[in-house]
Amino acid sequence: MQLLKILYDYVETTYKAYPLACKPGCSLCCTQKVFATSIEAYYILDILSEKDLEKLFQIENYLRPKLTHNQILLSYKEGSEPHIEEIPESLEPCPFLTEEKLCKIYERRPLMCRLTASTISCEKGFAELPPFLFQISTIALQLVENIDLGGLYGNIFDLLKFLYQYKKGLVEEIPDYLLNTVDVDELPILPEEKDLRKWVGNLYRIPVKDEFTFRELLQKLRSDFKNYEALSFLKEIF
Ligand code: SF4
Repeated sequence: MQLLKILYDYVETTYKAYPLACKPGCSLCCTQKVFATSIEAYYILDILSEKDLEKLFQIENYLRPKLTHNQILLSYKEGSEPHIEEIPESLEPCPFLTEEKLCKIYERRPLMCRLTASTISCEKGFAELPPFLFQISTIALQLVENIDLGGLYGNIFDLLKFLYQYKKGLVEEIPDYLLNTVDVDELPILPEEKDLRKWVGNLYRIPVKDEFTFRELLQKLRSDFKNYEALSFLKEIF
């Protein structure tokens, strides 16, 4: 969880240096297309009330990812076009939006929400993300999946519902629409992308515990969980 929080804070600090148009109450990008990892869902789960969960259970058939972020990266790396889900023209609003159009779980919202931003108001019909933020988004999504090796990837609302039911002993099997996270260590950074390299280097050197940096702890997690199956991982955390 420490790595997740460090990554969230680091990404947010980077975003704050840009003149973004996003402000409280603008919620056009807050739809049901929020893909995340199980550790992110786990981080959110304990602040949800039974009422919040009830609301989630009333909604089904969210847009579900066909591939994890790292599977998509692997496909590109191998020179093939990944088969990704078609995005409908209009998507239902996120169930975590309050009547005031604020995010109910703002402090713990998933990485994908933190990465979605624009320098121009989306009300104009389109969004614009500075190229550097686009680059770090790809890297951050890769890292959040690596942090959760042995875990699951899917729509955040499916993940929350599954973790809740699993914790209560109501389900034993992982549904098909939740995917296993995939390990991709090599980051897609070209030698000439010095700023990006520096951004990652500074993140990797952040101390996490007395004896580890972000990178060292991430590597330790990767070697510990590489051959884990999601169910055995979940049995340990609950
Ligand atoms: S979780 Fe929060 S930030 Fe993310 S889409 Fe929902 S309301 Fe928006």
